Amino acid sequence: MPLDYLIVGAGLFGSVFAQQMHEAGRSVLVIDRRPHLGGNCYSEDHPGTNITVHRYGTHIFHTNNDHVWRYINRFTEFNRYQHRVLTTHRDRVYSLPINLATINQFYGVNLKPSEVEAFLAPRREGITQPRNLEEKAISLVGRDLYEAFIKGYTIKQWDRDPRELPAAIVARLPWRTSYDDAYFDDRYQGIPVGGYTPIFERMLEGIDVELGVDFFDNRAAWEARARRIVYTGPIDRFHGYRFGRLAWRSVRFEVEQLDCDDFQGTSVMNYADVETPWTRIHEPKHLHREKTHRPAGTTVIMREYSQVDPEAPYYPVNTEADRRMLARYEELNAATQGVIFGGRLAEYKYYDMHQVIAGALARARRELT
Ligand code: UDP
Repeated sequence: MPLDYLIVGAGLFGSVFAQQMHEAGRSVLVIDRRPHLGGNCYSEDHPGTNITVHRYGTHIFHTNNDHVWRYINRFTEFNRYQHRVLTTHRDRVYSLPINLATINQFYGVNLKPSEVEAFLAPRREGITQPRNLEEKAISLVGRDLYEAFIKGYTIKQWDRDPRELPAAIVARLPWRTSYDDAYFDDRYQGIPVGGYTPIFERMLEGIDVELGVDFFDNRAAWEARARRIVYTGPIDRFHGYRFGRLAWRSVRFEVEQLDCDDFQGTSVMNYADVETPWTRIHEPKHLHREKTHRPAGTTVIMREYSQVDPEAPYYPVNTEADRRMLARYEELNAATQGVIFGGRLAEYKYYDMHQVIAGALARARRELT
């Protein structure tokens, strides 16, 4: 008998969808080409130090969605971590997202919140209808702060002129006229105690999972296994790159164990200058203050470098050309029977974790009603 669902990809979309269907009594098989669960959320304990490391970069869970928060808390407890990010520019450390401390330190002034608007207005170059990332950033914080904290970082991360990138990328980040330096505004935030991987293990309890198998190595056979496919991989790959390849950015990490208690005093330090080859350094020890057995005299750091790696897509670049190509792939999706497309790779959307969970729960609800 064919399965109800074959789920291609054991990341967040696939695992949440699988969990919902299994709970509703449907038969489900999950496959993933990687040898582990969790997609890019995967975490592991660094051998020797017991520090929980997010192998694909620091993941902070945050959401305003009560339903998503209640759902994810079925599978883990969260610690009370609140994300704060610092950035290094010309050898000095500033607070992010851009806030009153950043502005006052950068300009050597002592503005009050009510004075910020008038101070930045002439630096915004009269942009009211920003057409791209650069104009959006200048329209918010002015050219000087843009050039110091956004331009170099963005060029390194995306390897594109910021004028070719969509405004939405920087609209992700708040900026503030107060000293509030919280990276996220959301009501709920934290890091899963024990890391992300146990969430996936619990979600997929009782569900058949095959790891290290690539759907495309034997596509016809996999398709014959189930009435419906849930595909969470790159959308262009599913359609045989018929209209070309969508642009993705990837990252790689250089992991190092150091003989010191604390390398940088914070979990994520960004590097704003284009001359510094890495975009940021992660020090995962700082994500888990609740761990009582924090190893002394040793820490792990991960230097993050942006790159292109078609085998490991992370961020949709989403230029005009990409959006046109995506629209054509979406037309093909609509004409494809029996396949559900979901998640960052299949939808080509720069989603955060909570958005993927919300999407998978909504899609599962639609299937079940
Ligand atoms: N960004 C920046 N400077 C920074 C941090 C972020 O210019 O120090 C811009 C950059 O274009 C980046 C975007 O804001 O791609 C989104 O950053 P975020 O921290 O949300 O990226 P993620 O954590 O998803 O990699």
